[in-house]
Amino acid sequence: MDTINLTEKTDWAFIEQVKQESGQNPALCYQCGNCTAGCPYTQYFDYPVTMVMRLLQAGQKDTILKSKAIWLCATCETCTTRCPCEIDVAHIMDTLRIIARREGKVSEKNVQLFYDSFLDSMKKHGRIFEMGILMSYKMKSGQFMADAELGPKVMSKGKISLRSKSIKGADKVAQIFNRFQEKAKKHG
Ligand code: SF4
Ligand code: SF4
Repeated sequence: MDTINLTEKTDWAFIEQVKQESGQNPALCYQCGNCTAGCPYTQYFDYPVTMVMRLLQAGQKDTILKSKAIWLCATCETCTTRCPCEIDVAHIMDTLRIIARREGKVSEKNVQLFYDSFLDSMKKHGRIFEMGILMSYKMKSGQFMADAELGPKVMSKGKISLRSKSIKGADKVAQIFNRFQEKAKKHG
């Protein structure tokens, strides 16, 4: 784990931006560590979630937006559930990913590609088509052989279908995506 880096000048505008976009107040965090204690992915993070909160309070924008932690977070919401100050920490992590993406500072490109493939599938079928996501992710990432040994196991258990099935009303789901994408374009 890296040591905490508070050498950046405090970016007050960034703190305010995260507050506005997440609807959460990071200043309420008193560093109890409950979030990190329950985080199932903390061993993979470069900064544990408690430290992300501290970096945020100190307005260390670049350090946070370029961190791996915000992309390796699985949005399991354990941190949110455990926070004694009722901060929706998982939502803050989500907000930080959105800002990092908007500013072109994504550290874990393959995670972003996976999200894109997942959302494309939702938009197209109104539900997840696992094989489609898998193929799309592998094409975009070039990771053709990663986890290939798992394929026969999940296929033999019927967990992944080769044929896509769209839900009734998939077009309505696509409209939700379109509305959101239009709104996102307007807000830059
Ligand atoms: S939501 Fe993310 S940061 Fe919070 S506990 Fe889960 S993996 Fe960790
Ligand atoms: S659980 Fe809440 S108060 Fe405690 S360190 Fe995490 S965010 Fe801060």
